[in-house]
Amino acid sequence: MKTCILLLFTILFTSYTFAQEVPARWDELVAGDFPKAVEKSHKTCILPIGILEKHGPHSPIGTDLIHVREWAAHAVKEEYAVVFPDYFYGQINEARHQPGTFALPSKVIWDLLEATCDEIARNGFDKIIILNGHGGNPEFLHFFMQSLLNKRHNYAVYLYEPERDTVYAKEYVKRHKSALATDEHAGESETATLLYYRPDLMRMDRATDQSGANQARLPLSDLYTPIWWYAAYPNHYAGEGAKATTGFGKFITDHEIASFVKALKEVKADTKTLTLQNEFYDRVDNLNK
Ligand SMILES: [Zn+2]
Repeated sequence: MKTCILLLFTILFTSYTFAQEVPARWDELVAGDFPKAVEKSHKTCILPIGILEKHGPHSPIGTDLIHVREWAAHAVKEEYAVVFPDYFYGQINEARHQPGTFALPSKVIWDLLEATCDEIARNGFDKIIILNGHGGNPEFLHFFMQSLLNKRHNYAVYLYEPERDTVYAKEYVKRHKSALATDEHAGESETATLLYYRPDLMRMDRATDQSGANQARLPLSDLYTPIWWYAAYPNHYAGEGAKATTGFGKFITDHEIASFVKALKEVKADTKTLTLQNEFYDRVDNLNK
């Protein structure tokens, strides 16, 4: 009887303290806890950006979204920050010939990202970290980031771009089984990541149904055209997903989570970026005074 009461107390106490924890996901917070979450995060909000596009014949359309969502969720268990809910609006024109692709016009994705950052800031955050999971986004994101200097902002945006970790890279190459150069989209490493995070969504028996090899159909040198990716990978599949293993996925994700936690800590402690930004905007405003 005594043991039963003790057990009951333990259960009640554990669920009570669990309920008292402030969730990290913006959409899981109750409004009354929001200011507490802003404070706990040091006014830092993670904006994971994914996309909806075909990922080979075997990995889900939301692979990049699921990836960054899981990545952020794991990271904030170690270092708290608020995580913005699912965001899957980016540059994906090159996959419009594939079913399930969601490619909004460029002006819309630009305005949407700017308005989203403004709204995040209006809710009390002055630091936003973009965690991008989509290979078609970096050019857009770099241009967007640089354009933030065009007018005064009361918040800073950080784009997470980890530097090459040579120790990790050496081990990565050792464990990697397919050709490194063409492991670009739904190939071995990305498939392994999803296999680790969400094995229930993977259709590994279909991974060899289509070719993920470079078709090399456009032999131009020193020239860029928007059709280059389609010319090389008409199946919107680059690499060999079939070579992926859960073990390799764990190796990749352990490293990516640890690296992002490090950056997150750095952002939370950073005061310099906002100070310099304000100094810059002040100089712009006072240029002719
Ligand atoms: Zn992807």
